[in-house]
Order: sequence, then C-alpha cells, then structure tokens
Amino acid sequence: MFLKTLHLKQFRNYQEQRVDFVAPKTILVGNNAQGKSNLLEAVELLATLRSHRLARDRDLVRDGEAFGQIHAKLERQAGIIDLSVTLRRQGRRTVALNSEQLRRQLDFLGVLNAVEFSSLDLELVRGAPEQRRHWVDTLLIQLEPVYAHILQQYNQILRQRNAFLKSKGGFPMPVQEKEELAAWDAQLVTIGSRVVRRRARAIERLAPLAAEWHASISDRAEVLQIRYAPNVPFTATDPEGVQQAFLEKIEQRAIAEQHQNTTLVGPHRDEIELTINQTPAKQYGSQGQQRTLVLALKLAELKLIEAVVGEPPLLLLDDVLAELDLNRQNQLLEAIQDRFQTLIATTHLAAFDSQWLQASQILSVNAGQ
Ligand code: ATP
Ligand code: MG
Repeated sequence: MFLKTLHLKQFRNYQEQRVDFVAPKTILVGNNAQGKSNLLEAVELLATLRSHRLARDRDLVRDGEAFGQIHAKLERQAGIIDLSVTLRRQGRRTVALNSEQLRRQLDFLGVLNAVEFSSLDLELVRGAPEQRRHWVDTLLIQLEPVYAHILQQYNQILRQRNAFLKSKGGFPMPVQEKEELAAWDAQLVTIGSRVVRRRARAIERLAPLAAEWHASISDRAEVLQIRYAPNVPFTATDPEGVQQAFLEKIEQRAIAEQHQNTTLVGPHRDEIELTINQTPAKQYGSQGQQRTLVLALKLAELKLIEAVVGEPPLLLLDDVLAELDLNRQNQLLEAIQDRFQTLIATTHLAAFDSQWLQASQILSVNAGQ
C-alpha cells in the first residue's frame, strides 16, 4: 500500500498542511519541536486509531481550535481509498472512508497498516509488562481489527468487576455477592479467553520471524526468544481448554481477591518474555543491542502484517535510524527495499548513508509547515 497524500488540519502544531508523497522513502528533517513526530503520529492514528504517546483527543487538536482533522489518500491493490479522522476537543471522534462516515470505528481499522519504530519502543525491552501487552495489542488490531472490539469489551468487564469487588468485596463474601460475582466471572472468562488465544497466536507467528531477523542482524551471535507467559497458564489451546484453565485459576485466587478487592486473574496481567541467549533482554547488553532487538521485532511486524494482509504496510521511523550504526542501517535498507513505504523523521541528514539520501524524497519541517 502507498500513502499518496496526507492532509492535516488543526492537528497538533499544524494549522493546515498537505503533503504529497512521491517516493518509497520520505525523510522529514527539521529541528526539535517542529512537527516531525506529529506527522508520523497522524499516520499512526489512521492505522490503529491509537497514538503510542497515549495522547487524548483534546491534546491532538491544535491549541485554541475545537476540532482537528487528518485526511489521507491511500493506494491499495483494490484502488484508492480516502480516509479521514475528525478529532474534537469535546465529544467523540468520527471516522470516514471515501467520505462516508462510519457508524463503527472498527470498520476503519485495517485499511491503512503501519509499523511505528521510535525511541519510545526501547521501553519494549526495558519497561513494564504493560508496554509489551500494549505492543502486541496494537499489532493484533492491525492483524485482526475485530480484536479492538474484543479488547474494549474485556477492559469494560474488568472495570465493572473491579468496581464490584471494591464496593461489595471483602472477606468472607456473603453467598448472594458470590453469585453476583460468578456472573462477572463468566463474562471475564469468555471474553478474556478470546484475548488470550489471539495473543498466543500472534506471538507464535511473530517469534520465528523476529528470531530470524535478530540472528541475521547480530551475525548469528545471539539467539532471540519471544515467549508468551499468560497469567492464566493453559495447555489446551481450544476455547474450552483456555476457559477451563481461566475458571480454575479464578477459583484458586478467590480468597486473595476478596482480600485485595481487585481482579487478580486474566490477560491484563500477561507478560511477554524477551530473552537473548536465554538471559532476560532487560538485563542484557548495551543500548545498541537492545536497539537491535527492537529493530528485529519491528521488521518481524512488517513481515507478519504483510503476510496476513497481503500488502506491505508502511514503516514509520521516528528518530531511530541515525542511532543505528551503518551496518544496521544497511540491513534495514535491504530488508525494506522499495517495497515498504517508509517515512523517516530526523534532526539531521549527516548520519545517513548516501544510498538513503539518493532514494528519498526529502521534506524539511519547520514550525508545523
Ligand atoms: P523532536 O526532534 O524534538 O522529536 P519533532 O519535530 O518531532 O521534534 P513534534 O513532537 O512533532 O516535534 O512537535 C512538537 C511541537 O508540537 C511542540 O512544539 C509542541 O508544543 C507542539 N504541539 C503538540 N501538541 C500541540 C497542540 N495540540 N497544539 C499546538 N501545538 C502542539
Ligand atoms: Mg520527534
């Protein structure tokens, strides 16, 4: 797929700016705080309706304005698609395809696919489990848009079950309250198992791709393993098997939950383990090695999305390329070739190999223009 045009209106520090992309690679160059990341964030929103900066809509709308808009023309095998997202300082965002407003945001997902790689992604290695769950969830939204709906349902049930435990919890729990809680359990287990099974499937497919990239970038010196460590361990992967394991663990933890008044069991407590040569990646190696790991994860995401969707997604590189050494830059260049449209934000061109510069459209970004 190829993003032909991006049109930003009152988005972040942009008043109004149209960008036409004319090459497989575009380098956005500019000083700090000029709008490079903001532009990439707009593309990310079109892909996932999420921002990895976790911004709220009122932060995305330009200061002093009531609404903002991201508009794009995307070329896919099936033809050209017009996408737009309207963000409001107050009220819900709306999305449209080919100028037709959609009732369900879900139907907007999966039209534009993109993989973002920024320095924030180093938190995938160093950060809390939540960061890794967020990463896999964002990938899943692109692989199977219905997952966005499942995740939303799960989070809602979790909030309601927690609210119940807070207001009516305590030890020992009276029979009537136990029955009420059992109704929440049933929902948590049904929807939670869908989350678990999809995460398991995505990681199973991603792991060998990432391991292969990692081996290649590290000249076969290192072995990367990605392992899903679900909070509810399960052996049978059919829906009933996962649900059964889930229910059993809820029963085991019932007393602890009554004491702590919060939900202790479920995919909101999953971990995704990253190890290099059998050592947790967090404890392993230099910043450069951690960057290599994240690069391998991102390349694996590109390939996985391409395999599932049937078209190469976009790659958004926010300020990370210049930090890779020339060998890694070249590995990346070779991996993406001209197949993956790539938008690159950087503060200076000096670090780029001349091969990159020759093959790129170069745009300078200055104060939202
Ligand atoms: P760096 O090289 O430091 O990463 P950048 O070019 O990527 O810089 P951005 O993050 O894209 O910078 O843009 C930052 C600018 O956008 C900041 O000056 C910030 O104050 C401004 N900005 C962010 N949100 C809004 C908003 N809602 N309205 C107006 N300006 C905003
Ligand atoms: Mg930036």
